[in-house]
Amino acid sequence: MEIAIIAHDGKKAEMVQFLNEHKQILHQKNITLVSTGTTGEKAIKAGFKVQSLLSGPLGGDAQIAARVAEGLCDMVLFFRDPLAKHPHEPDVLMLLRLCDVHDVPLATNPATAELLMKAI
Ligand code: PGA
Repeated sequence: MEIAIIAHDGKKAEMVQFLNEHKQILHQKNITLVSTGTTGEKAIKAGFKVQSLLSGPLGGDAQIAARVAEGLCDMVLFFRDPLAKHPHEPDVLMLLRLCDVHDVPLATNPATAELLMKAI
């Protein structure tokens, strides 16, 4: 199972904390993690194996959206920062839309991500 992780800058620490809290299940279920560039760097530094794509503003969200469209990605955990502006908002909206088009589970905050983790 492939899970994409993305966190806006204000949420990256929360993402690393989330991964640490769910280390065991990620390992047990043999989850492959893919991520946008900077989120991936932080996760790798924290000891996780992650396939890092481009940074979000450079197209990383679009790359993950493509994986969703191609049926490669089974779940998206996207910790968005609703209080910040993002130059790549169109890419973000595309990703959210494609998750809906392809009925791929999408969490846009840690509380929902927590529930999704309980379901896998
Ligand atoms: P980043 O991208 O992980 O490269 O910071 C995330 C985003 O801003 O969508």
